[in-house]
Amino acid sequence: MSESFDYVVVGAGSAGCVLANRLSASGEYSVCLLEAGGSDWRFFVQIPIGYGKTYYQRAVNWMYHTENDPGLNNRPSYWPRGKVLGGSSSINAMVYIRGHRQDYDDWAAAGNPGWSYNDVLPYFKKSEGNQQGDAEYHGRDGPLRIDNQSAYLHPLIETYQRAGAELGLKVSEDFNGAQQSGIGSYQATVHRGRRMSTSRAFLRPAMRRPNLTVITHAHANKVLFDGKTAIGVEFSRKGKNQKVLAKREVVLSAGAVNSPQLLMLSGVGNSESLQSVGLDVVQHHPSVGQHLQDHLGIDFILKSKVKTLNDELYPWWGKLWAGVKYFATGRGPLSLSLNQGGGFMRTQPELSQPNLQLYFSPVSYTRAPAKTRPLMNPDPFSAFMVGLSNCRPKSTGSVSLRSADPIEAPVIKPNYFSAPEDMQELIVGTKFLRELTHTEAFKKVISEELLPGPSMQSDEDIVEYIKNNAWTVFHPCGTCRMGPDENEHVVDARLQVHGLQNIRVADASVFPNIVSGNTNAACIMVGEKAADMILQDAAVKQNP
Ligand SMILES: Cc1cc2nc3c(=O)[nH]c(=O)nc-3n(C[C@H](O)[C@H](O)[C@H](O)COP(=O)(O)OP(=O)(O)OC[C@H]3O[C@@H](n4cnc5c(N)ncnc54)[C@H](O)[C@@H]3O)c2cc1C
Repeated sequence: MSESFDYVVVGAGSAGCVLANRLSASGEYSVCLLEAGGSDWRFFVQIPIGYGKTYYQRAVNWMYHTENDPGLNNRPSYWPRGKVLGGSSSINAMVYIRGHRQDYDDWAAAGNPGWSYNDVLPYFKKSEGNQQGDAEYHGRDGPLRIDNQSAYLHPLIETYQRAGAELGLKVSEDFNGAQQSGIGSYQATVHRGRRMSTSRAFLRPAMRRPNLTVITHAHANKVLFDGKTAIGVEFSRKGKNQKVLAKREVVLSAGAVNSPQLLMLSGVGNSESLQSVGLDVVQHHPSVGQHLQDHLGIDFILKSKVKTLNDELYPWWGKLWAGVKYFATGRGPLSLSLNQGGGFMRTQPELSQPNLQLYFSPVSYTRAPAKTRPLMNPDPFSAFMVGLSNCRPKSTGSVSLRSADPIEAPVIKPNYFSAPEDMQELIVGTKFLRELTHTEAFKKVISEELLPGPSMQSDEDIVEYIKNNAWTVFHPCGTCRMGPDENEHVVDARLQVHGLQNIRVADASVFPNIVSGNTNAACIMVGEKAADMILQDAAVKQNP
């Protein structure tokens, strides 16, 4: 006999943990949360510097690779994704950014009522426990604690800000407030020196509830349908296939790679492609897995005349001191996001919103061997990094099935730079970084540009540098995008899959367009709003 629940949520990631908490909060409904990974109660997940370790740790990470991408000179891109309670919020770089107001106004304008900035702001505030910032934009009492790192940052952040000011960038106290533009330090999903994942914020407090069942190491194989109605999920655990039934709804929160994969494995996708791998079609849905978007970043590595975090973390006694400080006070470099500062800027003043996001890290890793990100083993000389990524790239790619085997990784084709304007933006951005590193403020501290290096001069050189070095900023989204047209979009504005009953998608895959900035906060907001809509719809069903 399979167990039945009111709601079955697949994926305990940024959105899924929020859903599990909010749907079970009243005690009225039973909720089952299926997660392919295991517990997040692991040292390197909890400690912020552990980001470097989990980046390549199969125990908590799907470790995907894209296909060779023509836009990256036929390089594949390595895509870490969280496979653990908390999902990617348990392995991410913890920068707390929501995106620009216009991003959400564009979501609404694309035919999604209820998703404008003014509509979604209450959900951002609901999740947020932030002691800083204007109360008009920030929640104080939400479960997701967000720390202002500024008191503990490396002094070079001030040099970075002065350099930005020389080029006309104003210092911003809050990138998530009234306006996004400016330069400054990032707030982070870190609290009291520990990572504030959605598992810590939303799931753990809810796990004591008798109406919430969390099943870890449960790899969902497919959604079960009765005709066009979702009735449960088949998953494999310890080598055995099992089922859970959903009396009300199935919600897919498996992320931008796995939610479309699961829909396709369940017979929902382009019928020709499904049949070509031997799957029966439940619903022809040409847009499942299409419209994949992602941010791409580039870095400059600068050798420094002043001490950086390299000097603190490279020698063994520095590591020891950092460890002692962390365990004694919860402070110091081990307790912070690697991306201490950054900002948002326009490459042309007439643009209606910033088109580049900036990053500053007081540490460097030119000597790191391939496939490692040893944050505790930086370069043995003083150096730091500045970088940037585009805010609203237009290139789109796809996620498709390699086979009908649910364990096999899907085919990921980002098609970076398929929209030529994305490359133009990064060329201008690269020139900006050069200018930034030649300001009076930076000239005093930089002894050498290690990367890209002085030989990169012409636009052709810049294009080659970008193609050979650009990296994903880890923000895939849009693969089950929301909108009114069932041929173009996968879910409607209430996140219900077009043409099917009792099934929704709620995670990064529903973004109608990528947001201007890091995507964790937006996924948490999607989880909050999805839960609210599901509970509203349940109330209407009970009292029509
Ligand atoms: C290395 C890295 C750095 C990042 N840095 C930042 C940052 O600094 N700031 C920021 O805002 N964003 C950052 N991001 C992006 C952000 O974390 C993600 O956009 C966000 O967490 C995605 O949330 P989600 O709910 O869509 O999916 P996820 O959080 O990825 O959750 C999906 C969950 O579903 C589970 N799952 C998948 N398939 C199945 C299946 N078949 N059966 C059962 N379970 C399944 C997964 O294991 C996972 O737990 C980063 C991401 C990464 C990977």
